[in-house]
Parts: sequence; C-alpha cells; structure tokens
Amino acid sequence: MEHTAQMLSSKSEVLIEKENKYGAHNYHPLPVVLEKGEGVFVWDVDGKKYFDFLSAYSAVNQGHCHPKIVGAMVEQAQKLTLTSRAFYNDQLGVYEEYITKYFGFDKVLPMNTGAEAVETALKLCRKWSYEVKGIPENQAQVIVCEGNFHGRTTTIISFSNDESARKSFGPFTEGFIKIPYDDIEALENVLKSSANIAGFLVEPIQGEAGVYVPSEGYLAKAKALCEAHNVLFIADEVQTGIARTGKLLAVHHENVQPDILILGKAISGGVYPVSAVLANNEIMDVIKPGQHGSTFGGNPIAAAVAIAALEVVRDENLSENAQKLGLILRKGLNEIAQRNPLIELVRGKGLLNAIVINCGEDSDLAWDICLRFRDYGLLAKPTHGNKIRFAPPLVITETQIQECLAIIEKALNDFK
Ligand SMILES: *Cc1c(COP(=O)(O)O)cnc(C)c1O
Repeated sequence: MEHTAQMLSSKSEVLIEKENKYGAHNYHPLPVVLEKGEGVFVWDVDGKKYFDFLSAYSAVNQGHCHPKIVGAMVEQAQKLTLTSRAFYNDQLGVYEEYITKYFGFDKVLPMNTGAEAVETALKLCRKWSYEVKGIPENQAQVIVCEGNFHGRTTTIISFSNDESARKSFGPFTEGFIKIPYDDIEALENVLKSSANIAGFLVEPIQGEAGVYVPSEGYLAKAKALCEAHNVLFIADEVQTGIARTGKLLAVHHENVQPDILILGKAISGGVYPVSAVLANNEIMDVIKPGQHGSTFGGNPIAAAVAIAALEVVRDENLSENAQKLGLILRKGLNEIAQRNPLIELVRGKGLLNAIVINCGEDSDLAWDICLRFRDYGLLAKPTHGNKIRFAPPLVITETQIQECLAIIEKALNDFK
C-alpha cells in the first residue's frame, strides 16, 4: 500500500528552494536538510534525528564530527593552514611517514579529492610504463572494468560506461581498454594480447555500481596475472578502504598489496578533503619536481586531520567492528527478505552493503522506499535505480543495527 510521504517543514522547503534556484542541478538529493551530525546520527533543521546509512559515500567511517579529528583540524587551523608546496611545513613529513608505514608503502603523493588521486595514479602508471617498463611513448594502455566509478574528471569519464556521466562531455581521453568486472579470463586475454599494457585499475568492490562484490579469489588472481605481465595493479580503495569492508583495505581480504593504492573519502573521516596515492620507490620516483602537483595537496590541516582520522580507525577497532556488524546486518536483511519479497537480493562485505529491490532499474520504488526510511528516521539513497546502499558509520553498535533493521522492515512493509 502506498502512503503519502511526510510533508516537509517550511524551513526545509525554503532551504531546498535556495539550492534549487542558485545551485547547479548536478545532484538530485533526497529531500531532507541536515544541520548537525554526531557519530552515527544526523539531525535535520527541525531537530529530527536520523541514522546515517550512507556516511557521505563512506567518507564518514569514523562517525560524524569525531571529536579527536575535529580537534586536530581546529588546532591546526589556528596555527597554519596552507603554505603550498613551494615551502616545507612541519606537518607534511610527519603525515607522510605515518601513512606510508600504516599502509606499507615507500612513498605517498598527497592530493585532495578521490578523482584527483585517480588521475594522479593514472599519470604515475603511464610515466612508469614509459620510463621503467619501456613502452613506446604515447602507446600505454590501462585496463579498466565495466561498471566502474572512479570520479568525474574528463579523463575518468572517458572510460566510464554511465551514459549520463559521459553524454555531451566528449571528446574523450584515449588509452583505456574496458573489460567485464570479475572476469579473470577477460583480463588474461587482454594482458596476453598486447605488450603495451601499463596498468589494471580496479575497485575491489564496485560501490557506486551497487556494491558488486567480485568472486572470491578474483583480486588475488588479477594481482598475480598483473605481476606475470609486468603490469601495475592499481586499487581504487576510495570507497572500500579505511576499514569499510571489515579490513583496513578491501584487498586485504585476499592478501593483496597493490602496486598503486588510491585512497580518499574516509582518510579524513569526512571533515576535510584529503586523498592520497601510495606506491613504492620504483614507481613513485618517476615523478620529479614540476611534473605533477596541487596547491592544497599535502597542506598542514589535511596532514594533521588524516593522522587523527587514521588513528581513530586503529584505536576504535573500526575494521573489526565493520566485519562483525556487517555479518549481523546482512543476516538481518536476509531474514527480512524471507518475509518480504520486495528485497530481491542482499550483498556486501563488512559495512558496505546493498539491497536490490524487486523492480526495474527505471522504477521509482527504491526512491519511494528511501523517502519512507527517512520518515522513519534512517537516511539511505538509491544507486542505479533499484539498489539501496546501506553503509552506516563504522562506530555503529549492535543495538543500533537492530534498531535500524526494525526501521528498514517497517518501511518495506508499507510497500508490500
Ligand atoms: C567517490 C569515489 C571516487 C571519487 O572521489 P571524489 O572525492 O568524489 O572525487 C573515486 N573512486 C571511487 C571508488 C569512489 O567511490
């Protein structure tokens, strides 16, 4: 049975109208206007409290406004915010040592957003392939996967297959070969077919596509194939990294160490734009002064914030919590699916999960269900039509997960 969605307050409506009138329409937000966050909760402008089941696309793994992270930011902001890389600052080297040891790489290249870090990784991979591997100039190819999401720059959308991300934004960047995701044979065939392959760029779980978890062994086999062909395995862990899937990195589920690791989102706990590309010296040292950079990349606030955010992940055992509560969440969702056929499928790893709603990708049903979740105090958003991602902050407790499962079932029952 359809029910009418709750009315928005006039305060919310005024603010939504401002965004609508003065902001570009490059997003379609769920109608809720937030003004405060703490831990797993956010509050709207009328004081209504919600569980955040999106966590800003896994940027807020440590929970909203984590006091230790915000504290580090405020303290640093009052002292020194930006020097540019024209000079040294007293935070960057300390952060670089911390993050490289944390993830087990020789060096890091600091950037700000995920897309910038992906661009950086691609440039690094190409340069390595010419100067170390010996591919003839301008011939390098990078293998990517169908259904990928790596960001929104012109080069990155060049190898997207999301038509709305590409349409009327051409001409596109060359040098990419697309293969099906989770298809080891396809990877092997391309690797065998050409000597000019520089790298394989892959998401360990395809988040935006609807939380596609590849078959067990896929990542380990792909890494081994890349090694055999002297091709760089580039893991985009912008969404899956930093404890989200129940390990520090999603590739750790298969004991893989990428040649190039891309991080973003939760590296700052969602308080500041921070991204990073990590690699060992043989690769990273191909980049020399003047060949790549960013005014804000590696700024003192970012450095201080990222150390604090990574410390929180360790101190609060967020990987273990994500692993444990992910199992409980998926078990609960599967039980709901038994009672309510609207859930076609439950999938995920750790606390990166999705349900697939039993309707076409073009149906509004998943959107309407998310409006009902909102009415009952839980925020989630559909991705690719009929999939709803469930990715709460990793500081969530078992009691809270149970409360959320009750909300989810109650809302779904309204549409039965
Ligand atoms: C979000 C995301 C990006 C892009 O990050 P931005 O900070 O939005 O540029 C890249 N790759 C993956 C896997 C992502 O989820």
